[in-house]
Amino acid sequence: MSPKSAKLDSKKYVQEYKRKCRECKKVWHSLVSREKEIGGNVKLNACVQASTACGGNLGAATQSKRNVESQQELLDKLRKCPSCGSRNYAEEIIIYEKK
Ligand SMILES: [Zn+2]
Repeated sequence: MSPKSAKLDSKKYVQEYKRKCRECKKVWHSLVSREKEIGGNVKLNACVQASTACGGNLGAATQSKRNVESQQELLDKLRKCPSCGSRNYAEEIIIYEKK
């Protein structure tokens, strides 16, 4: 129901974060869609914990609750330098066409 703010057709384009560590200069990539998905799962869980009906899929939410800690960890891991563990990085979004 919510209008999509993204102008890009996700079937045609891929968006990726390109991050560069300011400490050790390591460059790594992370898919925007993947982080959104993980972030969505974490939010869903927060919803359940507040025990309010979020208009949604309680079954899926309950299921994701078990995984939420590892999801949060995963997101955390994607957002720090895989080499030195620093969160001090520069970030840009790269968009490329799917082939
Ligand atoms: Zn680093």
